[in-house]
Amino acid sequence: MKIDSSRCVDCFNCISSCPKGGLQFKAVSPFKHQETAALKTDEPKVKANESRRAFFAAGATIAASFPFISTLAQRMRHGKKDGKCKGDGCCNGKGKHGNHKHKPNGLPLVPPGAISIERFKDVCTGCQICVTRCPSHVLKPSGLEYGFDYMLKPHMAYIDSYCNYECTVCSEVCPTHAIKPLTKEEKATTQVGVATFCINRCIVNTEGTDCGACSEHCPTQAVHMVPFKGTLTIPEVNPDLCIGCGGCESICPVRPMRAIFVQPNKIQKFVEKPKEEEIKKVEIDDFGF
Ligand code: SF4
Ligand code: SF4
Ligand code: SF4
Repeated sequence: MKIDSSRCVDCFNCISSCPKGGLQFKAVSPFKHQETAALKTDEPKVKANESRRAFFAAGATIAASFPFISTLAQRMRHGKKDGKCKGDGCCNGKGKHGNHKHKPNGLPLVPPGAISIERFKDVCTGCQICVTRCPSHVLKPSGLEYGFDYMLKPHMAYIDSYCNYECTVCSEVCPTHAIKPLTKEEKATTQVGVATFCINRCIVNTEGTDCGACSEHCPTQAVHMVPFKGTLTIPEVNPDLCIGCGGCESICPVRPMRAIFVQPNKIQKFVEKPKEEEIKKVEIDDFGF
């Protein structure tokens, strides 16, 4: 049997479905003309999971530095996982201008429709179709975010983009329903995480300047500006309206750690749809505003 590699989407369903354990992954040298997968009927059975693990382990070795870079990049944007509040006003003592949960929980952010992190880890095969089709390029292959055994399964990273409010592309193309099909209405009310605001990083507080970019780019108005000092206004997050789309995080100008970032939910929740007049069409120009 020969496998047409130009049509294979690397979903690996054939490996786990073959009752004889006859299909397995094989690293193929680009310089040798070998078959991309082999059917070995007279060799000992190789369990699908072992074969699959070996395949990823080989890939992991080749990309040894990638997971650490990916994980470090997330820490740079959000701050240290479970970092201690230094009492420096980051949560304003009483969480007045934030939701008092500013310490990154270190969880990966799964796309809307994944339902929960644990379910996604089990069902996703890491075929990367959603990654290549995501128009916003927020879906990225993971490093160590899910753990070593789950490397390359996609997670959402709001580096310079966000999950489009009306987009349901990944839920439409996922062949395994690791991302369940969602209507636009369901997508717009699925909460993948909640934005967390750190007043001690925000330039309105640290530099006494106007900003409000996060509020400008929030499609649900979950983050809105409230009076601060003098004529200045500062962001405040309503977690009941936030869907964790990352509009605020991706536009926040504070570096290296953003003053607002999305804290992932372990299990996705549903929020109420904002009133029509509150929904914003967000377009980012060349300058990010
Ligand atoms: S819903 Fe759309 S923008 Fe969001 S992650 Fe999926 S494909 Fe990307
Ligand atoms: S979520 Fe679906 S489309 Fe994306 S990598 Fe996993 S199985 Fe493939
Ligand atoms: S607060 Fe941020 S993450 Fe939440 S809905 Fe608004 S832009 Fe999206």
